[in-house]
Amino acid sequence: MPLPKNGSARRHSLIDTKAMTTEIRVRIAPSPTGYLHVGTARTALFNYLYAQGHNGKFILRIEDTDLERSQEVYTKNIFESLKALGLQWDEGPDVGGEYGPYAQSERLPIYREWAEKLVETGHAYYCYHTQAELDAEREQAQAEKRAYIYSGSCRDVAFREALAQRPADDGSQRKPSLRFHIPQDRGTLTFNDLVRGEVSFDMALIGDFVIIKSDGTPSYNFAVVIDDMLMKISHVIRGEDHISNTPRQIVVYEALGATPPQFAHVGMILAPDRTKLSKRHGAVAVSDYIKQGYLPEAFCNFIALLGWSPPDSEEIGTLEHFAKQFELERITHSPAIFEKDKLNFINGKLIRTMSLERLLSVAKPYLHDFDLSQYSAEKLHMMLDAVREPITVLNELPDAVNYFFGQKVILDAQLVGEVLTGAEPAQVLERFRDGFLANADFSAPEALAAELKEFINSLKPIKTKTIMWSIRAAVTGRTHGADLSKTLYILDQDVVCQRVETALALTTGSPA
Ligand code: GLU
Repeated sequence: MPLPKNGSARRHSLIDTKAMTTEIRVRIAPSPTGYLHVGTARTALFNYLYAQGHNGKFILRIEDTDLERSQEVYTKNIFESLKALGLQWDEGPDVGGEYGPYAQSERLPIYREWAEKLVETGHAYYCYHTQAELDAEREQAQAEKRAYIYSGSCRDVAFREALAQRPADDGSQRKPSLRFHIPQDRGTLTFNDLVRGEVSFDMALIGDFVIIKSDGTPSYNFAVVIDDMLMKISHVIRGEDHISNTPRQIVVYEALGATPPQFAHVGMILAPDRTKLSKRHGAVAVSDYIKQGYLPEAFCNFIALLGWSPPDSEEIGTLEHFAKQFELERITHSPAIFEKDKLNFINGKLIRTMSLERLLSVAKPYLHDFDLSQYSAEKLHMMLDAVREPITVLNELPDAVNYFFGQKVILDAQLVGEVLTGAEPAQVLERFRDGFLANADFSAPEALAAELKEFINSLKPIKTKTIMWSIRAAVTGRTHGADLSKTLYILDQDVVCQRVETALALTTGSPA
């Protein structure tokens, strides 16, 4: 396969004229052979944004003709993940539409019908070679160090008919596939890619390819053309890994007398080590990220920036905001690097700035081990607000709020040794119990904050840090955490008293 040639002369020249005359109809066409991949989600998002920003339609088509590898569980995951990301489609297998059905497995007779038309017009022919024979041809080419191209011998009617009569290696009758006949004089095929500019392929190097397999199912390159044509797709926006399929698809359009859609091939997403993003680098399924506690809108925001940048340079934004600014010419053809730190940054920022009502609702699934019903919504909001600052992913929440639940906290030996041992901590906690807790006003955190300040002053010359650490360690089992007066308020008097008692028992008798 020749490397596509890049050129910029005619780059984007077709965008405006086409946009004026044609309704924008774009699609995402995942194969349900795995959970929705980050790369497919990014492609879906770009299609969605383009449709949204141009008053167009976003279509979901399920490419499930690989019957062995396609699974219902993956289709379900694709639906759910796209929906979670907010990428609702206008037409698709579940919502229907004017150009359905939208699952390829339900369109088999359509492919057959169009394939027959190609046979009738001499653009396709039956091929009776068995897989074993084709493999042998390929091996021979490899041994001779030449690129393998199907010989095209079944184009010849007499040869084909003779071959059809010969039994296959296992004695069975040969089942033909249908191949597209690439015109001998097709020469160089050039198309204008809206991201990469002019791309050319030498068609002499592309062999006649299968359009209907011997089991009757269509090949990807054929089904995709029939579907994009019949579904009136105006723009095919997809990953660069499909660029070498594009000339095969264009010649099928030509043979059918149809105008191809415009193509926009987006650079790949690579891992930081610049290799293909794979499980080796961590999760690749969108649902895994959501499960870990990445907010769908943060994830969407992050993938929008993988290969595209908003003209206003405002990198944090909503889908609506991005859709208004989304143009294909701002997509880069160089690879985008999946930088998890950036995803964490966006997610953390969203967690810190979202409303507390929303935070509580997205946090709940991560806090199922805790009895949230013991607290009012006001206290739960305050708790989340008090701990959210350092959180980047929601699955860090259980650890962050742990000490708000249960009567006791664990005071480990290191904490006791470092913070609670000695005369001063014992004195602080005693005075805290007898002076502060006995009289404090637990009705509002502000009241507690003011009283705490007074209490600290009253203990001089003991250092503020020693006082705060001793109380915090006793009450939370940690040296860092949420604002102390809010923590006391949320926990309430009884629990605080009990925890201080427990800590005091550990300090009493400690060496002074
Ligand atoms: N089913 C193909 C894929 O998932 C679709 C490619 C295309 O958009 O044409 O990669």
